[in-house]
Amino acid sequence: MEAMTQISPNKIKFEEKYGPFINGEMVEPANGYIDAINAATGKVLSKIGRGGQEDIERAVNAARAAFPGWSNTSVEQRYELLNKIADVLEANQERLKMIECLDTGRSLHEFDLDYKLAIFQFRFFASTILSYYEGASRPIDNGYLITKKEPLGVCGMIIPWNVPMIMAAGKLAPALAAGNTVVLKPAEDACLSIMEFSKLLADILPKGVVNIVPGYGTEAGQALIDHPNVDKLTFTGSVGVGKLVGKAAGEKIVPVTLELGGKSAHIVFPDVEIDNAVENATLGYTFFNGESCVLGSRLFVHEDIYDEFIEKLITRARQVKIGPPTDRSTRLASVISEKQGKRILGYFEIAKNEGAKILYGGNRVTVPGHEHGYFIEPTIIEAEPHMRIFQEEIFGPAVTVTKWKDVHEVIEMANGVEYGLAAGIMTNDLQKAMDTANKLEAGSVWINSYFNFQLGAPFGGYKKSGVGREQSKETLDSYSQSKTITVAYNLPEPGMFL
Ligand code: NAD
Ligand code: MN
Repeated sequence: MEAMTQISPNKIKFEEKYGPFINGEMVEPANGYIDAINAATGKVLSKIGRGGQEDIERAVNAARAAFPGWSNTSVEQRYELLNKIADVLEANQERLKMIECLDTGRSLHEFDLDYKLAIFQFRFFASTILSYYEGASRPIDNGYLITKKEPLGVCGMIIPWNVPMIMAAGKLAPALAAGNTVVLKPAEDACLSIMEFSKLLADILPKGVVNIVPGYGTEAGQALIDHPNVDKLTFTGSVGVGKLVGKAAGEKIVPVTLELGGKSAHIVFPDVEIDNAVENATLGYTFFNGESCVLGSRLFVHEDIYDEFIEKLITRARQVKIGPPTDRSTRLASVISEKQGKRILGYFEIAKNEGAKILYGGNRVTVPGHEHGYFIEPTIIEAEPHMRIFQEEIFGPAVTVTKWKDVHEVIEMANGVEYGLAAGIMTNDLQKAMDTANKLEAGSVWINSYFNFQLGAPFGGYKKSGVGREQSKETLDSYSQSKTITVAYNLPEPGMFL
């Protein structure tokens, strides 16, 4: 990727406070503010509104009022406006990347990928909506059949803190393209980039089309999913909260999209070039600080190469550069919060107690000037399928390694968890690779290159990893409803009913 002109972290000026963005402007929240924290230093960056029921009520009303106008804009108008959003996001990306870096604690260089994906969402759905409305329209006896797509109405969206702009863009772009209006609740731990983005949106979109209410999940989030006047819910985050969102959708009988994380298998066949496979595996379990729903968090290594592979995996882990998030050469930085840091370290204790073996890492590291942050070593744990460390999402830079012998057995182990978001395979044998890919219960399977995201490809989970697919043409179906209209050329003759 080309070198970007980096903005100095000291040059970033935040607003003193960010109230909810409702009906085109920042307003005062009903219940005051929460500190927005730099994940690595603990410094207060700014304040975000502590959204609650009253703010959600105002936001839903604004979105409802904006719906008739927005849903009646032409497809060409929405195409143009979404492209404009992509343009301003692109023009402001270096500043927004630095803001996300400070807010989340993730390494700055990673955000090049985040913003590439986020900007693309707006361009992709702008273009895709142009060719979306080709239904099964056809002549019928004495008339014509029209099938059309209509927007759903007001969409309630809740997103997590790990990749804020990818999450916001991946939900906003298809919803807006399809003609819906929105209330978005970003994560309390990292939403400054989204609040800054709302200021850019204010210059492009009509008032009330997008409303953003920051705040805690149990307050703003719960009020949003329980609101009776919301026509669709979409959520990315933990399985526990995903169940609440699904129940709320059931109460209202509205469609729901859920993306709930993973425990992705990464399978190494014995024919691979070991150094290359180790590099791919290391990227797979350390990228995004391990705070990724698609992390390659369970490695399966064939017994013929196991010892050599593990030795090299450990050597490679030792070389991963842990450092300040704002240094572009850092590869592993601070996780989002003390709570998540302790949760990750807690999993290492669980692993030891259940008899798993920590082969490398397992500790918090201090980075000078960033003592507040939880910088966690790349951690390699030898584990068996029955263990919690093998079954549950850690959401940190950690990987389990498990030896395998027989391909049927490794596929069974790979599929033997509740999740099914992604998987990786490494082999030069095309037949084995495809056969294994077909048998894996996962929404994305990456052969020989982990995180091989392709723009426009469907993304989503099997099993408890969720419901629905994002980032692709079919996503528009989840923000639309079909209407069938038949036209007869004339009324029936009297007596035809007799
Ligand atoms: P979470 O599911 O609690 O939070 C995600 C979002 O849901 C946040 O915006 C939060 O405010 C909101 N929320 C929380 N409770 C809510 C409620 N009752 N009603 C409505 N909204 C609510 O996730 P977390 O506590 O931040 O992280 C815990 C674990 O979840 C992580 O360790 C990881 O395993 C998983 N996770 C997965 C993803 C993913 O991309 N799938 C992202 C973040 C976290
Ligand atoms: Mn933060």
